[in-house]
This record gives sequence, C-alpha cells and structure tokens, in this order.
Amino acid sequence: MSTAGVLVRCRAAARTYGAGPTAVVAVHGASCEIRAGDRIAITGPSGSGKSTLLHLLAALEVPTTGEVTWPGLAEKPGPKTVGVVFQGPSLIPALDVAENTALPLVLAGQPEPAARRRALDCLDLVDAAHLADKLPEELSGGQAQRVAVARVLAAAPRLILADEPTGQLDQGTGSRVIDALVATADALGAGLVVTTHDPHVARRLREQWSMHDGRLQPGPPTPQDSQPPSPQGDGQ
Ligand code: ADP
Ligand code: MG
Repeated sequence: MSTAGVLVRCRAAARTYGAGPTAVVAVHGASCEIRAGDRIAITGPSGSGKSTLLHLLAALEVPTTGEVTWPGLAEKPGPKTVGVVFQGPSLIPALDVAENTALPLVLAGQPEPAARRRALDCLDLVDAAHLADKLPEELSGGQAQRVAVARVLAAAPRLILADEPTGQLDQGTGSRVIDALVATADALGAGLVVTTHDPHVARRLREQWSMHDGRLQPGPPTPQDSQPPSPQGDGQ
C-alpha cells in the first residue's frame, strides 16, 4: 500500500486505562490512515473513545498494544507538525488572548510582531479578534474554545486534530469555526480530523467515521445507525 501523503497510521492501536477487573478499554484495536488533504469527522457518543483516539494520533498517549506511526513527518509529532484543539480548557491563564494565540510561533522563534499579526489574523477567522486583550478568565467557554482553535491555526501544523471544537458553540458560530478549520487546512495542505457528536458539524466534512464503545469504524455510520432498513428492499 502506498504511504504517499500518510501523516499518521494506526495499526490495531489500542489503549486501556487501569488494570485488572476495573480496566477500561478506551480504544480497541483501531486501524486507520490520515493523509494530507483528508477532511474527517469522527462522531460517537460521550465515552466512546474519541478523545483517546485523538491523543493517540497526536502521540500524547502511547498505545497499550498495536502501533501508531507518522510516516509523513520527519520527526515525532510536536506543536509545529500536529496541532491539537483540546476538548477542555487549555489556555495559559497569565497570558492574554493574543499572547496565547501567538505563543506557538514565539516558541518556534518567530519575532513577536509577526507572530502577533498572524495570531490576530487567525483570531479574526473565528470571530475572536475583539477578545485579543482579554485574559482567559474573562472568556466564556465558547470564546475560549474559539481562541484554542485560533492558536492551532496560527501554528500552521501539517495535521490538525480538533476535539469537539464546537461543543460549546451555537450552530452558526460552530459552522464558522468549522469553516475556519477547513479553510486553513486547505491553505496549508494539511490533514484535518474533527470529533463531534453533532451530525450537522460532521456533515460539513467530506468523510465521516464513527466510534462506538471504543471501536473505530472508518467510513460513514452503518445504515442501521442512521435509518431503519426498508422492508421493501431498496425499491429499485
Ligand atoms: P470520548 O472522548 O468519546 O467521550 P474518551 O476517550 O474521553 O471518550 O473516553 C473513553 C473511555 O475511557 C471512557 O470510558 C473514559 O471514562 C475512559 N478514560 C478516558 N481517559 C481516561 C483516563 N485518563 N483514565 C481512566 N479512564 C479514562
Ligand atoms: Mg472526548
């Protein structure tokens, strides 16, 4: 099989938390490939393993069995290559919104004025430029979520992994955030994976995968998940 453009590959990658009778298998042997240009939504109920899978893809978790590799990256994933929008709070409390957004660029050695300009552009993409001088504690959950998205966009990674980035947003704002993720991934030629339990959000991405009880199913949800089978067959 060709490895061209494969940013990350899972081969029967599993992650178990704990041991013995109380062990929880968060992800059962997941196998998948994500390439530059992919636009993937992963849907699934709470507790189905979406966050754990994203953390495996980002090398933030190590698989208990199986393997995760990054054939298209020269080095192990880091903030410059794989950008993660975390599901929970992730902004640095002592930095304002513009500084938080520019931080990955400043850490990578970019001069501060240029980093700030790119940060403000990315904040604008998610309608958050007016929040530039605010501290994280002054933001609503939805505003903080948009800033976390802008921070990943600013870093210009090759793979963007966004964990329920619209979970605290109304449908209009959520759509705008998804549009910003897709537009930036397009501009960078990056891969994009978004977890969500909102079917409206999932449908904005080209490809739909699903998770149930830790089992990843690359491809659209099975027909019985979305509609009952027709008693007349498919009627053709
Ligand atoms: P989702 O993102 O779909 O809600 P998660 O990946 O967060 O699912 O969780 C999958 C399962 O793994 C859940 O049963 C959860 O309780 C468990 N889990 C997740 N993280 C941990 C952890 N650090 N320690 C123990 N159990 C965990
Ligand atoms: Mg989650």
